[in-house]
Amino acid sequence: MTEKLSVDERFRNIEHNLCFINEQIALSAQKSGRTREDIRLMAVTKTVEPIFINHAIKCGVDLIGENKVQEFLSKREYLKLENCEAHLIGHLQRNKVKQIVPFVSMIQSLDSLKLAKEIDSQSEKAGIVSDCLVEVNVGDEENKTGISFDDVMPLLEEISRMQHITVSGLMAVPPICEEKAQLLKYFEKMHDLFVDISRQNIDNITMRFLSMGMSGDYNEAILCGANMVRVGSSIFGPRLY
Ligand SMILES: *Cc1c(COP(=O)(O)O)cnc(C)c1O
Repeated sequence: MTEKLSVDERFRNIEHNLCFINEQIALSAQKSGRTREDIRLMAVTKTVEPIFINHAIKCGVDLIGENKVQEFLSKREYLKLENCEAHLIGHLQRNKVKQIVPFVSMIQSLDSLKLAKEIDSQSEKAGIVSDCLVEVNVGDEENKTGISFDDVMPLLEEISRMQHITVSGLMAVPPICEEKAQLLKYFEKMHDLFVDISRQNIDNITMRFLSMGMSGDYNEAILCGANMVRVGSSIFGPRLY
Protein backbone atom coordinates (compact mmCIF):
# COMPACT_ATOMS: atom_id res chain seq x y z
CA MET A 1 0.00 0.00 0.00
CA THR A 2 1.20 3.47 -0.80
CA GLU A 3 0.61 5.92 1.99
CA LYS A 4 -2.03 8.51 1.40
CA LEU A 5 -0.63 11.85 0.32
CA SER A 6 -2.23 15.18 1.11
CA VAL A 7 -3.51 17.36 -1.71
CA ASP A 8 -0.59 19.75 -1.19
CA GLU A 9 1.91 16.93 -1.40
CA ARG A 10 0.33 15.70 -4.60
CA PHE A 11 0.41 19.24 -6.02
CA ARG A 12 4.12 19.46 -5.25
CA ASN A 13 4.74 16.06 -6.80
CA ILE A 14 2.96 17.06 -9.99
CA GLU A 15 5.05 20.25 -10.23
CA HIS A 16 8.25 18.37 -9.58
CA ASN A 17 7.39 15.58 -12.02
CA LEU A 18 6.52 18.03 -14.78
CA CYS A 19 9.82 19.85 -14.28
CA PHE A 20 11.76 16.61 -14.50
CA ILE A 21 9.85 15.34 -17.55
CA ASN A 22 10.26 18.65 -19.37
CA GLU A 23 14.02 18.46 -18.82
CA GLN A 24 14.12 14.88 -20.06
CA ILE A 25 12.10 15.77 -23.14
CA ALA A 26 14.44 18.69 -23.88
CA LEU A 27 17.48 16.40 -23.61
CA SER A 28 16.01 13.72 -25.86
CA ALA A 29 14.86 16.35 -28.33
CA GLN A 30 18.40 17.73 -28.49
CA LYS A 31 19.87 14.26 -28.98
CA SER A 32 17.57 13.79 -31.95
CA GLY A 33 18.39 17.17 -33.51
CA ARG A 34 15.33 19.02 -32.26
CA THR A 35 14.34 21.29 -29.38
CA ARG A 36 11.84 21.09 -26.53
CA GLU A 37 9.39 23.16 -28.58
CA ASP A 38 9.29 20.48 -31.28
CA ILE A 39 7.80 17.93 -28.89
CA ARG A 40 4.29 18.08 -27.44
CA LEU A 41 3.72 16.67 -23.96
CA MET A 42 0.28 15.24 -23.31
CA ALA A 43 -0.73 14.71 -19.69
CA VAL A 44 -2.83 11.53 -19.62
CA THR A 45 -5.58 12.14 -17.10
CA LYS A 46 -7.59 8.90 -16.91
CA THR A 47 -8.74 8.26 -13.31
CA VAL A 48 -7.21 11.61 -12.20
CA GLU A 49 -9.55 13.99 -10.38
CA PRO A 50 -10.14 17.46 -11.86
CA ILE A 51 -8.38 19.27 -8.99
CA PHE A 52 -5.09 17.59 -9.94
CA ILE A 53 -5.64 17.99 -13.67
CA ASN A 54 -6.24 21.70 -13.12
CA HIS A 55 -3.05 21.93 -11.10
CA ALA A 56 -1.08 20.38 -13.95
CA ILE A 57 -2.68 22.90 -16.33
CA LYS A 58 -1.67 25.69 -13.95
CA CYS A 59 1.88 24.31 -14.12
CA GLY A 60 1.90 24.71 -17.88
CA VAL A 61 0.26 21.58 -19.31
CA ASP A 62 -1.57 22.58 -22.49
CA LEU A 63 -2.75 19.17 -23.67
CA ILE A 64 -4.58 16.44 -21.81
CA GLY A 65 -5.64 12.99 -22.97
CA GLU A 66 -8.60 10.97 -21.72
CA ASN A 67 -9.40 7.34 -22.53
CA LYS A 68 -13.10 7.12 -21.88
CA VAL A 69 -15.88 9.22 -23.35
CA GLN A 70 -18.07 9.02 -20.25
CA GLU A 71 -15.29 9.82 -17.82
CA PHE A 72 -14.19 12.83 -19.84
CA LEU A 73 -17.69 14.20 -20.30
CA SER A 74 -18.41 13.97 -16.58
CA LYS A 75 -15.14 15.69 -15.61
CA ARG A 76 -15.19 18.29 -18.37
CA GLU A 77 -17.27 20.94 -16.63
CA TYR A 78 -14.77 21.03 -13.73
CA LEU A 79 -11.70 21.43 -15.95
CA LYS A 80 -10.02 24.73 -16.80
CA LEU A 81 -9.61 24.08 -20.49
CA GLU A 82 -9.44 27.67 -21.79
CA ASN A 83 -5.74 27.26 -22.62
CA CYS A 84 -5.59 23.50 -22.79
CA GLU A 85 -6.58 21.08 -25.52
CA ALA A 86 -8.23 17.74 -24.82
CA HIS A 87 -7.74 14.65 -26.99
CA LEU A 88 -9.42 11.28 -26.85
CA ILE A 89 -6.81 8.49 -26.73
CA GLY A 90 -8.87 5.45 -25.74
CA HIS A 91 -10.87 3.06 -27.87
CA LEU A 92 -13.94 4.77 -29.30
CA GLN A 93 -17.18 2.91 -29.88
CA ARG A 94 -19.26 4.10 -32.79
CA ASN A 95 -22.30 4.78 -30.61
CA LYS A 96 -20.26 7.29 -28.54
CA VAL A 97 -18.93 9.31 -31.47
CA LYS A 98 -21.81 11.76 -31.47
CA GLN A 99 -21.29 12.59 -27.78
CA ILE A 100 -17.55 13.20 -27.95
CA VAL A 101 -16.98 14.85 -31.32
CA PRO A 102 -17.92 18.41 -30.25
CA PHE A 103 -15.75 18.34 -27.13
CA VAL A 104 -12.28 17.15 -28.15
CA SER A 105 -9.85 18.80 -30.53
CA MET A 106 -8.48 15.46 -31.66
CA ILE A 107 -9.38 11.78 -31.67
CA GLN A 108 -6.14 9.79 -31.54
CA SER A 109 -7.78 6.38 -31.60
CA LEU A 110 -9.16 6.19 -35.12
CA ASP A 111 -8.68 2.56 -36.08
CA SER A 112 -11.30 1.46 -38.62
CA LEU A 113 -13.17 2.60 -41.70
CA LYS A 114 -16.51 2.18 -39.94
CA LEU A 115 -15.37 4.51 -37.17
CA ALA A 116 -14.04 7.03 -39.71
CA LYS A 117 -17.41 7.05 -41.48
CA GLU A 118 -19.25 7.64 -38.22
CA ILE A 119 -16.88 10.47 -37.19
CA ASP A 120 -17.32 12.01 -40.65
CA SER A 121 -21.09 11.82 -40.48
CA GLN A 122 -21.47 13.08 -36.89
CA SER A 123 -18.99 15.89 -37.56
CA GLU A 124 -21.01 16.96 -40.57
CA LYS A 125 -24.14 17.11 -38.43
CA ALA A 126 -22.27 19.15 -35.81
CA GLY A 127 -20.94 21.48 -38.50
CA ILE A 128 -17.29 20.75 -37.75
CA VAL A 129 -14.30 18.93 -39.20
CA SER A 130 -12.77 16.41 -36.79
CA ASP A 131 -9.03 16.00 -36.66
CA CYS A 132 -7.74 12.49 -35.95
CA LEU A 133 -4.65 10.35 -35.64
CA VAL A 134 -4.74 6.82 -36.98
CA GLU A 135 -3.94 4.35 -34.21
CA VAL A 136 -1.70 1.57 -35.46
CA ASN A 137 -1.43 -1.86 -33.85
CA VAL A 138 2.28 -1.89 -34.60
CA GLY A 139 2.98 -5.19 -32.84
CA ASP A 140 0.10 -6.97 -34.60
CA GLU A 141 -1.21 -8.03 -31.21
CA GLU A 142 -4.51 -9.82 -30.89
CA ASN A 143 -7.07 -8.18 -28.62
CA LYS A 144 -5.39 -4.83 -28.99
CA THR A 145 -6.90 -1.69 -30.46
CA GLY A 146 -5.41 -0.07 -33.52
CA ILE A 147 -5.53 -0.90 -37.20
CA SER A 148 -3.06 -3.38 -38.69
CA PHE A 149 0.01 -1.86 -40.21
CA ASP A 150 -0.92 -3.00 -43.73
CA ASP A 151 -4.40 -1.51 -43.52
CA VAL A 152 -3.22 2.04 -42.79
CA MET A 153 -2.78 3.20 -46.41
CA PRO A 154 -6.14 1.86 -47.65
CA LEU A 155 -7.86 3.58 -44.70
CA LEU A 156 -6.13 6.89 -45.47
CA GLU A 157 -7.24 6.66 -49.09
CA GLU A 158 -10.86 6.26 -48.03
CA ILE A 159 -10.58 9.13 -45.54
CA SER A 160 -9.07 11.41 -48.18
CA ARG A 161 -12.49 11.44 -49.87
CA MET A 162 -14.40 12.42 -46.71
CA GLN A 163 -15.32 16.05 -46.08
CA HIS A 164 -15.61 16.27 -42.30
CA ILE A 165 -12.59 14.36 -41.07
CA THR A 166 -8.88 15.01 -41.42
CA VAL A 167 -5.92 12.93 -40.32
CA SER A 168 -2.84 14.69 -39.00
CA GLY A 169 -0.65 11.82 -37.92
CA LEU A 170 -0.26 8.43 -36.31
CA MET A 171 -0.54 7.05 -32.79
CA ALA A 172 0.74 3.77 -31.38
CA VAL A 173 1.10 1.80 -28.18
CA PRO A 174 3.78 -0.82 -28.90
CA PRO A 175 3.75 -4.22 -27.18
CA ILE A 176 5.39 -4.57 -23.78
CA CYS A 177 8.96 -5.54 -24.62
CA GLU A 178 11.51 -7.19 -22.36
CA GLU A 179 14.30 -6.11 -24.67
CA LYS A 180 14.79 -2.42 -25.29
CA ALA A 181 16.09 -3.20 -28.79
CA GLN A 182 12.73 -4.73 -29.68
CA LEU A 183 10.85 -1.69 -28.41
CA LEU A 184 13.06 0.58 -30.50
CA LYS A 185 12.26 -1.52 -33.57
CA TYR A 186 8.54 -0.87 -33.09
CA PHE A 187 9.10 2.86 -32.63
CA GLU A 188 11.31 2.93 -35.73
CA LYS A 189 8.76 0.99 -37.74
CA MET A 190 6.17 3.64 -36.84
CA HIS A 191 8.55 6.45 -37.73
CA ASP A 192 9.31 4.87 -41.12
CA LEU A 193 5.59 4.65 -41.87
CA PHE A 194 5.11 8.26 -40.73
CA VAL A 195 7.89 9.47 -43.06
CA ASP A 196 6.63 7.31 -45.89
CA ILE A 197 3.11 8.73 -45.68
CA SER A 198 4.44 12.30 -45.28
CA ARG A 199 6.10 11.99 -48.68
CA GLN A 200 2.84 11.14 -50.40
CA ASN A 201 0.34 13.78 -51.24
CA ILE A 202 -3.01 12.57 -50.00
CA ASP A 203 -5.97 14.93 -49.66
CA ASN A 204 -7.00 15.66 -46.05
CA ILE A 205 -3.97 13.78 -44.74
CA THR A 206 -0.92 15.44 -43.19
CA MET A 207 1.71 13.87 -40.96
CA ARG A 208 2.20 16.52 -38.29
CA PHE A 209 2.08 14.30 -35.22
CA LEU A 210 3.70 11.01 -34.37
CA SER A 211 2.18 10.21 -30.97
CA MET A 212 4.08 7.49 -29.14
CA GLY A 213 5.91 7.02 -25.86
CA MET A 214 4.42 6.80 -22.35
CA SER A 215 5.79 7.08 -18.79
CA GLY A 216 8.25 4.22 -19.19
CA ASP A 217 9.56 4.95 -22.67
CA TYR A 218 8.94 8.52 -23.78
CA ASN A 219 12.65 9.27 -24.13
CA GLU A 220 13.18 6.26 -26.41
CA ALA A 221 10.14 7.27 -28.46
CA ILE A 222 11.48 10.80 -28.94
CA LEU A 223 14.87 9.44 -29.98
CA CYS A 224 13.02 7.39 -32.62
CA GLY A 225 11.17 10.44 -33.97
CA ALA A 226 8.02 10.85 -31.86
CA ASN A 227 6.91 14.47 -31.55
CA MET A 228 4.06 13.87 -29.13
CA VAL A 229 4.40 11.81 -25.95
CA ARG A 230 1.54 10.72 -23.70
CA VAL A 231 2.56 10.61 -20.05
CA GLY A 232 0.22 9.70 -17.18
CA SER A 233 1.57 7.99 -14.07
CA SER A 234 4.95 9.75 -14.19
CA ILE A 235 3.10 13.05 -13.79
CA PHE A 236 0.19 12.18 -11.49
CA GLY A 237 1.51 9.13 -9.66
CA PRO A 238 0.21 5.56 -9.82
CA ARG A 239 -3.42 5.22 -10.88
CA LEU A 240 -5.84 4.07 -8.19
CA TYR A 241 -8.74 2.19 -9.68
C1 LIG B 1 -2.81 5.30 -19.98
C2 LIG B 1 -2.28 5.65 -21.31
C3 LIG B 1 -1.08 6.37 -21.48
C4 LIG B 1 -0.21 6.82 -20.31
O1 LIG B 1 0.30 5.73 -19.61
P1 LIG B 1 1.39 5.95 -18.44
O2 LIG B 1 2.16 4.69 -18.45
O3 LIG B 1 0.62 6.17 -17.19
O4 LIG B 1 2.21 7.12 -18.80
C5 LIG B 1 -0.69 6.70 -22.76
N1 LIG B 1 -1.40 6.34 -23.85
C6 LIG B 1 -2.55 5.64 -23.73
C7 LIG B 1 -3.29 5.27 -24.97
C8 LIG B 1 -3.01 5.27 -22.47
O5 LIG B 1 -4.15 4.56 -22.38
